[in-house]
Amino acid sequence: MLMRSISAAIPIAGPRITALRKVVKEGTKIKKIKLMTPLIKMTKSEIIKLGRKLGAPLDITWSCYAGGKKPCGVCDSCVIRNKGFSEAGT
Ligand SMILES: [Zn+2]
Repeated sequence: MLMRSISAAIPIAGPRITALRKVVKEGTKIKKIKLMTPLIKMTKSEIIKLGRKLGAPLDITWSCYAGGKKPCGVCDSCVIRNKGFSEAGT
């Protein structure tokens, strides 16, 4: 099974779909779930600026779709993240 994330260009498959299924399964057992998305309307650069303001350790985070121990630097997620850092003045 292949699902698509919010961005149709970003596939969610393999271990990620298994994790998503677990979350949905567990989440539907509890009826009082409030989904919070405080960053959803922010751009990547805005999120990065907020992270810096809050002291978040952005240097040890990434969201690469390759799933390796280091970001690949070429997948959509890496490209979008790097663009956000550039726009945020890094
Ligand atoms: Zn990547």
